Amino acid sequence: MECRVLSIQSHVVRGYVGNKSATFPLQVLGFEVDSINSVQFSNHTGYAHWKGQVLTAEELQVLYEGIKLNQVNRYDYILTGYSRDNSFLEMVVDIILELKKTNPSLVYVCDPVMGDHGVMYVPENLLPVYQEKIVPLSDILTPNQFEAEKEHPRSLLFTAQVMELLHKMGPGTVVLTSTDLPSKQGGKFLVALGSQKTVKPDGSKTSQKICMDIPKVDAVFVGTGDLFAAMLLAWTHHHPTDLKAACEKTVSVMHHVIKRTINYANDVAGPGKKPSPAQLELRMVQSKADIENPAIAVAVRVL
Ligand code: ADP
Ligand code: PLP
Ligand code: ZN
Repeated sequence: MECRVLSIQSHVVRGYVGNKSATFPLQVLGFEVDSINSVQFSNHTGYAHWKGQVLTAEELQVLYEGIKLNQVNRYDYILTGYSRDNSFLEMVVDIILELKKTNPSLVYVCDPVMGDHGVMYVPENLLPVYQEKIVPLSDILTPNQFEAEKEHPRSLLFTAQVMELLHKMGPGTVVLTSTDLPSKQGGKFLVALGSQKTVKPDGSKTSQKICMDIPKVDAVFVGTGDLFAAMLLAWTHHHPTDLKAACEKTVSVMHHVIKRTINYANDVAGPGKKPSPAQLELRMVQSKADIENPAIAVAVRVL
């Protein structure tokens, strides 16, 4: 059966973030991807210079209107990422509500991009929209630890309990893509956590909590959060009630892509030199075989 994704994310001319990071790997895995570019920039904002255009809420509405008029607005998945504008995010909410009406089993995969390492990189006024509208509509949520805690700024609960609070707000599947929790395998690993609540056919509820120890690479990658969300969409599609299996494949893809990227970046930078943002662009096309059939490279523990 055909599976169609609407992906509302950034576009960059050069490199891989947002839709550039999500579309190719999803297509390789057989998904039909309809993409709306929330911005069109020359490159990601981690370069020395960046230029480009931002799609307004009205322009987003016009694009959706065209899709709707032709009655091709039936989607199996919607995927959203980085948004820096309040009214744009409100329009996304309206579109999701309509899409859920058209297909009640539509799955919303949301990467609530807000910031990292204590720094917000979207305006503060987006937070209530995420809290009150976006998170309650989402089925699969992939915040980092900072974003997860932003949802509960008054909470002093531990990270696992933060996931419980996020479940209570809506999503049945929550994956914290990176945390500052110490890894049992030592300082060279970063910890990601996942939690899934599912209802069995007999109506009984089950839950699964998982922990991933991911080998850390000493470089800053951009577009990895977007690739993670896209791969989680694909692999939860194949393993809808087994988060361990879905995450094993997701983080293994991440591992292979990052490995290939850092090896290439170090090569072109030369001995002893730190690779530039351009040299650190994800080696996406070169990773096609790993995306299609990821060898399991990262073990996922059930907690
Ligand atoms: P976000 O953008 O949501 O903060 P990140 O891009 O930091 O998320 O991380 C998403 C995933 O990318 C991680 O779960 C991990 O699999 C991979 N990743 C990102 N940076 C690194 C790194 N330096 N070393 C190893 N894996 C990384
Ligand atoms: N979109 C744009 C235009 C960006 O510049 C960035 C990061 O710089 C992102 C999206 C998000 O990238 P990541 O997947 O690393 O969170
Ligand atoms: Zn991110």
